[in-house]
Amino acid sequence: MTDIWSFKVILIGPAAVGKTSLLKRFISNKFSENLAATLGVDYLNKELKFSPNSIARLTIWDIGGQERFKFLRNTFYRGANGALIVFDLTRAKTYKGIKDWVYEMRQLTEENIPFVLIGNKCDLFDDIGPVVDSEDAQRFAESEGNIYIETSAKTGENVEDAFIKLTHRMANREEIITPNVEEAFKAIDYEIEKLTEAPKILIDEKEEKEILPKNAIEAQGLLIKAFYEKFGNEALPIIKEVCKKQGRSLGLKIKKKLNDNRLSIVAKAFTKSYDPNDVKVISISDKKFQVQGTKCPFGLENTSRELCEAVMEIDHEYFRTAVSDKIELKIINNVAAGDSYCDTIYELKE
Ligand code: GDP
Ligand code: MG
Repeated sequence: MTDIWSFKVILIGPAAVGKTSLLKRFISNKFSENLAATLGVDYLNKELKFSPNSIARLTIWDIGGQERFKFLRNTFYRGANGALIVFDLTRAKTYKGIKDWVYEMRQLTEENIPFVLIGNKCDLFDDIGPVVDSEDAQRFAESEGNIYIETSAKTGENVEDAFIKLTHRMANREEIITPNVEEAFKAIDYEIEKLTEAPKILIDEKEEKEILPKNAIEAQGLLIKAFYEKFGNEALPIIKEVCKKQGRSLGLKIKKKLNDNRLSIVAKAFTKSYDPNDVKVISISDKKFQVQGTKCPFGLENTSRELCEAVMEIDHEYFRTAVSDKIELKIINNVAAGDSYCDTIYELKE
């Protein structure tokens, strides 16, 4: 049996040190000399087999260094399980700034998440010689209980190794942060196995699935999932149709209550129906409303993107009814498809 882990990894460090290049090298084994600077936040997924029986689903987040993206920092750091902290071996100034990055990360992440300190662009050593004291970098990383690696996104040297080492550290961390119940079961299994070194007891499939709904929405979610599991894609148009009616009903209610059909006003009312710990409003105006969430209220985590789209008909129709039928919905990410968070945009198209 294979253990499956999900980790959020963040890439941090000053501008132009090669964060995006390292990510590109790791994900698609490519390098380009003329990368456009990263704007805002970007992230990519990759499955990494880091030991014979362990796979990690990594969601790797990359952030633009520009000051103006400071407002995205909280979303960026939230829930991170580990970090690659990158400086440029050819620019001493980028190394000097590293402590500030570690400090900021410690402020905004869970206690003591592991990191790998990366001195990047080691392919340029021959041309310019040492600019940063590697031993000092190593001492610093070790003083924090972490490791230091020199990489080149250009040649690929040590890039995968850095991700693998970080993944091991994340997996070995005692306090395992698990995104959902299924993962939690796996993590507990893993811990028990480590303690007893006995063969893993397989949890009966049925037992594993016995998750009880905590409220009416979760109960609806269970029903939808059961229906979808039995009838597959054929069930989708039916689910969508019913959800649309539900959205229309909710939309009509809020329309009457608010008596104001501006997107910003309706969106604010909409957000109030969610637990503020689970959702984050990225932007709100009369043209556009962007919201992110870490938890699906229906419990559709790791089912399918299509199922999420069908159920999101509730919210889409709600906005079409309460604001305008010209509201378009874009689902950029969703936890149903296995992403680590949901990201949706409602836009008023004239
Ligand atoms: P970021 O701002 O930290 O994301 O940095 P980028 O990935 O955009 O890289 C900045 C510049 O450094 C780009 O011109 C890259 O081509 C270059 N670069 C990145 N990594 C390396 C490397 O390992 N070796 C060399 N020689 N250049 C690199
Ligand atoms: Mg970048």
